[in-house]
Amino acid sequence: MREIHHWIDGKETKGTSGRFADVFNPATGEVQARLSLATKAEMDDAIDRAAAAQLKWGATNPQRRARVMMKFVDLINRDMDKLAEALSAEHGKTFPDAKGDVQRGLEVIEFCIGAPHLLKGEFTDSAGPGIDMYSMRQPLGVVAGITPFNFPAMIPLWKMGPALVCGNAMILKPSERDPSVPLMLAKLLQEAGLPDGVLQVINGDKESVDAILDSDVIQAVGFVGSTPIAQYIYERAAATGKRAQCFGGAKNHMIIMPDADLDQAADALIGAGYGAAGERCMAISVAVPVGEKTADALIEKLVPRIEKLKVGPWTAGDDVDYGPVVTKAAKENILRLVQTGIDQGAELVVDGRDFNLQGYEDGFFVGPHLFDRVTPDMDIYKQEIFGPVLSTVRAASYDDAIKLALDHEYGNGTAIYTRDGDTARDFANRINIGMVGINVPIPVPLAYHTFGGWKKSGFGDLNQHGPDAFKFYTRTKTVTARWPSGIKEGGEFNFKAMD
Ligand code: NAD
Repeated sequence: MREIHHWIDGKETKGTSGRFADVFNPATGEVQARLSLATKAEMDDAIDRAAAAQLKWGATNPQRRARVMMKFVDLINRDMDKLAEALSAEHGKTFPDAKGDVQRGLEVIEFCIGAPHLLKGEFTDSAGPGIDMYSMRQPLGVVAGITPFNFPAMIPLWKMGPALVCGNAMILKPSERDPSVPLMLAKLLQEAGLPDGVLQVINGDKESVDAILDSDVIQAVGFVGSTPIAQYIYERAAATGKRAQCFGGAKNHMIIMPDADLDQAADALIGAGYGAAGERCMAISVAVPVGEKTADALIEKLVPRIEKLKVGPWTAGDDVDYGPVVTKAAKENILRLVQTGIDQGAELVVDGRDFNLQGYEDGFFVGPHLFDRVTPDMDIYKQEIFGPVLSTVRAASYDDAIKLALDHEYGNGTAIYTRDGDTARDFANRINIGMVGINVPIPVPLAYHTFGGWKKSGFGDLNQHGPDAFKFYTRTKTVTARWPSGIKEGGEFNFKAMD
């Protein structure tokens, strides 16, 4: 059985714990590798080594650090297909979607090339008599990234790019489910010129995460994953004085107004609800048509589209719409929640429970589901399902529709489909959710804006990527300087002109 270990000081390093996690092929259900899980002692040692390496890296000028990112961009593009294949093989998402995962991470690395500009400080000339004041952004030291399974390229890249280019060293603790791509990225960074030790990829579970949280050396923690763990990490990191930003789960609503183009809205819902088997924090999991007529027409348009979805392994070709979910446990949890929906009175319009794929009977495939007449008290409405299950909540009016999204505990993303600018503008202004789409179903901001949810979807300060990331990964120091004048009176340095 293939074993996957750690990346320490620029080398693949065998773990010593004797503890392993299974890495599955989600399409077949087979275990394809064993992942070494680090002990606290291994994590502490890697952190100390990173601290030693950071001193020189932090003192390297930003332009040189940016050049490492430039080269990294080239290398990711060179190895795009290899990265995407490794990603699909462990995550299960389709090959084009895996490339998208790499691409959206790559764009943040491109943004990081602007570090010399983004790290420029501020300067006030003559803040007082003979006094100048300036501020500079300095690296924090050693920081940590703890990342989820669903974007094994994009989210590690969102963490490592800004953290490293700001002059920090980073401990990356990727998901145990699909650890190969983060290790491949670490190797590419070495090839791009990153000094050894500045990025350590340590695989592990709660023991490694707790070692990060309790370390005196780690200065900041960037986490992405489920809400209970995000809150736990935020609280424990803050208790030891660390800077922390922890992004959690989601329940993203799309409001469909009576004046919307319903074909466009239905197409958008199919992609945003079922793409990547619904395993996206920006997936739309709740459709809110306004008015009974809109709801009936929308359901009528959704059903044939859902029935046409092609579900299969990534190896079956680029026309597969989505692949398996990540584990057997994830599949069971989705089917359990579907059952609660039925038991609690929702109408299951498309039933994917008996989905079976010949030759892949043990794979973690889940057929697409569509619920209608879901109400806010149901578990399928309150909880994140993280599977190919779309719930429809019928709203009588725009006010009822926006209230649903306003009152939901999650606040990651949302969308509205309408032809009316006034309604769209009101929605964007009033909604208490971090990322809003207007006739755009998955409003993931581009690299030079920032990404972050509100309410239970995000704990801590500042967002991911964009200018916020440069603030998160640096500290501001402000210097006030007075240079006493006097030399002008004391000496004569002027080249005398002839009288
Ligand atoms: P997860 O919370 O199970 O795991 C995330 C990370 O936390 C992993 O590295 C894991 O090893 C670690 N972890 C898990 N349990 C832990 C524990 N008890 N103590 C300490 N560390 C622990 O999340 P996941 O299943 O990998 O990812 C899916 C979740 O991530 C979904 O809820 C999804 O919405 C969310 N997500 C959010 C965003 C966002 O930006 N808001 C983006 C992607 C995914």
